[in-house]
Amino acid sequence: MSELDDSIYRSLDDALSGVYECHKCILGDTRTNVVPGAGNPRAKVMFIGEAPGKNEDLQGKPFVGAAGNLLSQLLERIGLKREDIYIANILKCRPPRNRDPRPEEIEACTPWLREQIKAVHPTVLVTMGNFSTKFVLQTTTGITRLRGQVRTTGPFRVIPTFHPAAAIYDRSKISALEADFDLIRALLDADERREHENM
Ligand code: SF4
Repeated sequence: MSELDDSIYRSLDDALSGVYECHKCILGDTRTNVVPGAGNPRAKVMFIGEAPGKNEDLQGKPFVGAAGNLLSQLLERIGLKREDIYIANILKCRPPRNRDPRPEEIEACTPWLREQIKAVHPTVLVTMGNFSTKFVLQTTTGITRLRGQVRTTGPFRVIPTFHPAAAIYDRSKISALEADFDLIRALLDADERREHENM
């Protein structure tokens, strides 16, 4: 991610120009819709998930359905709405039967994500699940060991956390997700305090 250090401002439309026609990997042949991302193009916090699921593929929107509802509840708990953040995935097209992303698909698709990060220019990246965390932090360490602390890469503070879908099946992960979202709130509050002090 180091090449993002000297990010150049671009609009999201420019950044995603061509994504709807993309066939750089085989997922372009089986998708219903490309799901590039959604939310505030000037968000301070960008959430990065794994890949579209069935509902996302059908609607062309990220994080709809049960995992999306849980994400919205977690955001609400810390005083944020979907409109306050930007959400994207590592892959923009659904892997068949929701299988894991393959390395060659991640390699083909993540240039889109890099362009989105450059365009939105967030200060905090929240990586949800193993795939986005490993990509952003360039690590092989799993999410269970990495979550719960603020990490850094280049100019970004990174908060790794579980993917909300994992908490749908394992409710014991909810308290960890809540603690990680509290970290997001704490970072944003500290940033706001600093901005006021510098005014
Ligand atoms: S998953 Fe990404 S690289 Fe593959 S076809 Fe879709 S947009 Fe292109």
